[in-house]
Amino acid sequence: MAKKEFKAESKRLLDLMINSIYTNKEIFLRELISNASDAIDKIYYKALADDSMDFNKEDYYIKIVLDRENKVLKISDTGIGMMKQELEDNLGIIAKSGSLAFKDENELKDGYDIIGQFGVGFYSAFMVADVVTVISKALGSDEAYKWESEGADGYTIEPCEKASVGTDIILKIKENSEDENFEDYLEEYRLESIIKKYSDFVRYPIKMDMTKTRLKEGSDKESSDKEGNDKEGSNKEYEEYVEEEIINSMVPIWKKNKNELTQEDYDNFYSEKHYGYDKPIKHIHISAEGTVSYKAILFIPEKMPFDFYTKENEKGLELYSKGVLIMDKCAELLPDYFSFVTGMVDSEDLSLNISREMLQHDRQLKLIAKNIKTKIKNELKEILKNDRDMYEEFYKSFGRQLKYGIYSDFGSNKDVLQDLLMFYSSKEKKMVTLDEYVARMPEEQKYIYYASGESIEKIEKLPQTEVVADKGYEILYFADDVDEFAISMLRIFKEKEFKSVSSGDLGIETEEDKASDEDEKDNKELFDRMKEILSDKVKAVVASKRLKNHPVCLSNEGEVTIEMEKIINSMPNNQNVKAAKVLEININHDVFKSLKEACEKDNDKLKLYTDLLYNQALLIEGLSIEDPVEFTNNICKIMM
Ligand code: ADP
Repeated sequence: MAKKEFKAESKRLLDLMINSIYTNKEIFLRELISNASDAIDKIYYKALADDSMDFNKEDYYIKIVLDRENKVLKISDTGIGMMKQELEDNLGIIAKSGSLAFKDENELKDGYDIIGQFGVGFYSAFMVADVVTVISKALGSDEAYKWESEGADGYTIEPCEKASVGTDIILKIKENSEDENFEDYLEEYRLESIIKKYSDFVRYPIKMDMTKTRLKEGSDKESSDKEGNDKEGSNKEYEEYVEEEIINSMVPIWKKNKNELTQEDYDNFYSEKHYGYDKPIKHIHISAEGTVSYKAILFIPEKMPFDFYTKENEKGLELYSKGVLIMDKCAELLPDYFSFVTGMVDSEDLSLNISREMLQHDRQLKLIAKNIKTKIKNELKEILKNDRDMYEEFYKSFGRQLKYGIYSDFGSNKDVLQDLLMFYSSKEKKMVTLDEYVARMPEEQKYIYYASGESIEKIEKLPQTEVVADKGYEILYFADDVDEFAISMLRIFKEKEFKSVSSGDLGIETEEDKASDEDEKDNKELFDRMKEILSDKVKAVVASKRLKNHPVCLSNEGEVTIEMEKIINSMPNNQNVKAAKVLEININHDVFKSLKEACEKDNDKLKLYTDLLYNQALLIEGLSIEDPVEFTNNICKIMM
């Protein structure tokens, strides 16, 4: 039979799997059982929606069968099965394969959770098996098919016999190698412990034949006394027998008592459900009773999934009703700004076949969502208070999301989020909260000052920060696109207004202030002429009250700041927004003398200097200059 090739990327992933990049091989069983349980779920949902179908709970189970002699491990389910085309589509192609190109090989080799990332659970079978055979009969089909593969080379599909609907996954377990004892996976007790560890809460029974020993009937009866104690010299005979056992407790973890559970239980649940591929920094186990009754296990991840901002990354929590999954990703349960949270919610009060449309208006669900929002917020505050390092690590990943939260919905969530914000501080040289900033403000300081730019390093060098910093005031550095937008919504924190160091009026009284008002008059002619030269590129040219060492800078008037101009204009279909800019000249700088001189004697020179200074100011702000060729020519002119 002709072998079919795997799609290129699937092949590469398979290669990685087979060459055992993943140290934790035992999880193959978790993956196969999870697929089996999903397949039974599918029949279950069909039966729910279709009155003509009955669902007999006893008929649905997963069975693990061992054949040690032939080194074969079989995982059978009575789930929905796969048609021929489904075998081809589901097992020959990796759904999210496009994402592989993203990762470099070394990272993958570092025990990276490739399975969780790419949804390739089935392939993990190749970590422990040389040959994987899948025999499946789909619900409603008379034919069964056999899919078989020895790894990356490809696979075959052919018709075969199978009595009942469902799927058998048959693994030919690998020979032991130097560093791996594959035969372990043919030991009942080893398998039992793996199942208990990862799949205990699977809703369907996982059955396995367990070998046990018992006293052989009739053997040496009289050698036990009445209390059942053995007597000296008894002649007991034991025999082995096999009994089918249900290995898993089938009680979902969220229905268990918090104090019965260990950190490991939660971590295993997180990986088994593929809620994330990192190790979560915190779990929140909620058991709410009252106006709204529900149970939930939520996880706050540490790292952002690489596809977090793409369409592929569907946000939301799993939603269960009375222990039955009704929706994979229920976005309604989380506000956008907390959409990094993963996990599940189970409520007794929701209908089993509630539709997505109905969910949006469900009162119960809204109450749960509100409740969850508060719990997450409180948990984050706790982390911020008690484990600063952990919070900062988290904030690196999801701080942006919180800031977007402040900005979106017209700032209506600022009360929830403002205490969770952090910015880099000019004084502390580390991340600080707004609360900490305000608590440190000297009595006479009116505003919370901030400076915006592309990076901390660049902001540090901004001439505009000089006066505020000289005054000894702390400045928050806004290096994220969203920062200024968020703050424009927040406007005030603890009665203190935010103020950009680039804004017209800084609210700082300095000695030089008065002088510079007079200077303004003295130099009126010069500034007027400069303004004329620059025409509507600037709103005004003025004597700077904020510069000390630098000759020029830009400040801005009005709502749109220079940083916002940059950000808005870098977006697709930008609207060419312009900030109202003011060119500020440092009249104590030597350059100013040259300007004055030119103003008196040489009009061309004044034009040349004005252009140069204006373009310098643009460059300092990280804005692009309109005519770089002219600018460089002008520099050459003053050198010649
Ligand atoms: P995932 O489970 O993340 O989708 P897998 O690689 O584990 O990825 O499985 C791919 C697909 O193959 C599943 O989505 C499912 O449609 C199908 N499949 C796997 N195992 C079974 C099974 N035991 N019964 C029915 N379908 C299965």
